[in-house]
Amino acid sequence: ARSLGRLDRCEVFDAGRHRALVERMHLERALREAHQEGRLHVHYQPLARLADGRILGAEALLRWRDDANQWRPTGEVIDVAEASGLIVPLGRWLLGVACRAAAAWPPSASGPLTLAVNISARQLEQPGLVADVAAALEASGLAPGRLWLELTETALLADAPFAIATLERLRELGVQVALDDFGTGQSSLARLRHLPIDGLKVDRGFVADLPGDPLDMAILAAIATVAAKAGLKVVAEGIERAEQVQAVMDCGIALGQGYHFGRPVPEAELRAIFSRQG
Ligand code: C2E
Ligand code: MG
Ligand code: MG
Ligand code: MG
Repeated sequence: ARSLGRLDRCEVFDAGRHRALVERMHLERALREAHQEGRLHVHYQPLARLADGRILGAEALLRWRDDANQWRPTGEVIDVAEASGLIVPLGRWLLGVACRAAAAWPPSASGPLTLAVNISARQLEQPGLVADVAAALEASGLAPGRLWLELTETALLADAPFAIATLERLRELGVQVALDDFGTGQSSLARLRHLPIDGLKVDRGFVADLPGDPLDMAILAAIATVAAKAGLKVVAEGIERAEQVQAVMDCGIALGQGYHFGRPVPEAELRAIFSRQG
């Protein structure tokens, strides 16, 4: 409906835009059906301790294989789900699945394994989010402290007072909150002081050119310094190569995610990783 509104006001109606709109509506319907018919999947990407590569938890990521049996790029799928509002029931479903899975993960020698779940702007602005999270914890029996919710800075900007009040209520449940893709939005290190959060995930754009880019190294080190003073955990995203592990640690960051440690995998594969490391 949102995109139709935009089309109304559009003076030049061209075939390319029309095709894109039809494609989007088709995608939206197919996604809705996949959700209703239980054909969506959740994959999990390991979260690693950089010093020794130990896996401390995982991030749940939506996966959808369409009618042509192709995995659709998740970023696009989430965009469609957000624009149509489908993200709300879909996100509730995913949270339930992921919490149930994590509640059954084995005990780990390094302490309780954490589960991270992404929450988009549309979910955050919806008044039922806190109740949905409480219900997912209750139904799964997952200890609230093991759940990390990841939000982007953009999501927090939309309606800042309401968003911040919601974060406070989530933290009252005992859940932890992290800012996702930190550094890509209207980031300000000073603003961290005012946000009720527990951690930061630094966008993979800062890691991509390491160790060769001294400016990225300096930015990461600055983020790590401020975050440590503010009592925030820091995770570096997008670590793909061994040399980047050392570079990120040299910046003072202790946790990371990326293809070097593991791609997002189905739950059974994640459990195999957990059992291997004990
Ligand atoms: P994100 O939360 O920042 O997730 C990290 C993305 O980076 C994932 O893409 C992951 O597969 C990818 N990635 C991880 N390690 C590497 C690496 O070393 N190199 C590169 N090039 N990429 C890496 P994915 O799964 O396609 O998800 C894209 C975005 O979609 C996510 O970004 C998140 O914002 C959103 N998303 C995914 N699942 C969900 C969900 O269940 N709910 C909501 N609301 N959003 C979701
Ligand atoms: Mg994330
Ligand atoms: Mg991210
Ligand atoms: Mg992202």
